[in-house]
Amino acid sequence: MLPNHSPISFEILHSPLHFLQAGLSDLPQPDWLREYESWWEREGQGISAAVDRSGTPWLRMFDRFGARVDEVLYPPEYWRMLKHGYHAGVLWRVFEEDSLLPAYLGIYVTSFYDPGLSCPYTVSLATIAPLSKYGDPELQKRFLPPLLRRDESVWQGATWMTEIKGGSDLGAAVETVARPAGTHWLLTGDKYFASNAGAELAVVAARPEGAPRNVRGLGLYLVPRQRADGQLNYFIRRIKDKIATRSVPTGEIELRDSEAWLLGLREEGIYLILEVLNLSRVANSVGSVALAQRAMADALSFAKRRMVFGKPLIEQPLIRRQVPPSGPLGKVLDRRACSANREVGHGNTRRTGYVGGVPRRALAARSDDSCYLGGDFASPDSRRLGSDGAQAHTSLAIPTPSSDWLRFSLARNGIPGRTTTQPT
Ligand SMILES: Cc1cc2nc3c(=O)[nH]c(=O)nc-3n(C[C@H](O)[C@H](O)[C@H](O)COP(=O)(O)OP(=O)(O)OC[C@H]3O[C@@H](n4cnc5c(N)ncnc54)[C@H](O)[C@@H]3O)c2cc1C
Repeated sequence: MLPNHSPISFEILHSPLHFLQAGLSDLPQPDWLREYESWWEREGQGISAAVDRSGTPWLRMFDRFGARVDEVLYPPEYWRMLKHGYHAGVLWRVFEEDSLLPAYLGIYVTSFYDPGLSCPYTVSLATIAPLSKYGDPELQKRFLPPLLRRDESVWQGATWMTEIKGGSDLGAAVETVARPAGTHWLLTGDKYFASNAGAELAVVAARPEGAPRNVRGLGLYLVPRQRADGQLNYFIRRIKDKIATRSVPTGEIELRDSEAWLLGLREEGIYLILEVLNLSRVANSVGSVALAQRAMADALSFAKRRMVFGKPLIEQPLIRRQVPPSGPLGKVLDRRACSANREVGHGNTRRTGYVGGVPRRALAARSDDSCYLGGDFASPDSRRLGSDGAQAHTSLAIPTPSSDWLRFSLARNGIPGRTTTQPT
């Protein structure tokens, strides 16, 4: 909890690291993280805004000779922004320091500026973790080093579990079949919502032929983008045309006799899948708190400068009641998200079915709470911007959802367009 629910100054709210420092002073803030935040201020947020406006990523399926390439196209700056996080150490430091904290701290800072971009880091982390814990030594030797590279050539991960029949009831919905093929497996099926499409390596849920049609029949497999002969090992059918974040490509993936390797024991697949999921849940908690902080910072800074009825909006009695500049955010940061993260952060290398021993349901509940928190803060705070403020700062006002989402959200709250100048 922030000390005595004391008012959070604008300076603190405007910096993810100052905010963490104010609430959780025992968390380390190494130089690389401060430099990472400075980079976002200097360069990253401009790139993020441009990527958001440039629209959904594009899929180039064939090269000029008609060969299937399935290349995800973004402006070059997108790749610079993305690779900067890997280079700074959001992932490789996890191994160097034997702790998940560098990843989650990096994800907090990233999420403050561009929550969508934290998805590639999260799913890459959730690919590296089961590989390093459950992959056999040969697999680790082959696939871990490229995922931990510190330069442009770094590989990315992805976590593809759900299918078109649904996500929650995974045991019933997964139809991807795994057939043994000597030392490896061949996977055939379709993944309908696959984030970080194009990743060099994915962890994929599939059902070995003949296994029961329930969660215990699922296995977790490692699937590289390229086959041993250099051909594509999976295909991207299309990129989703999302209304929300554009800074991670989500696609539909076709697995067609795709080369794969089983992670862990066949009968323990569901526990590995849940472990992957839990890493993402914690990242969602972290990202949601960062999003809430950002929404609050943007709304308050607008309210400070906007003049209404002869004085700054922030000095109007109603606003002062609506925006308590203390308390809730800090409370949630501490209670719901960071306590879970700290527990998890200290247990990342334990060989366990559940991350850091944190019970799955508790983690899910924390993640769920914090995600709602992000939305809860983002929505009323976007209203406080007024439509002028929101339109002028679309990428700043609500960093996760795109400006389309913001307009939709404003319209739903009765703020139709630029003509409305009174904050509601
Ligand atoms: C942009 C985007 C990216 C995605 N990326 C990935 C990815 O990379 N990898 C991947 O595997 N999946 C991905 N998904 C899919 C995501 O994991 C699923 O949407 C999620 O698992 C929920 O499944 P569903 O959408 O089929 O909803 P359903 O399972 O049909 O559930 C519908 C609703 O019912 C609720 N519900 C379900 N069961 C219960 C219950 N027992 N009690 C109470 N409520 C319940 C759910 O919370 C949900 O609100 C992505 C989805 C989106 C939108």
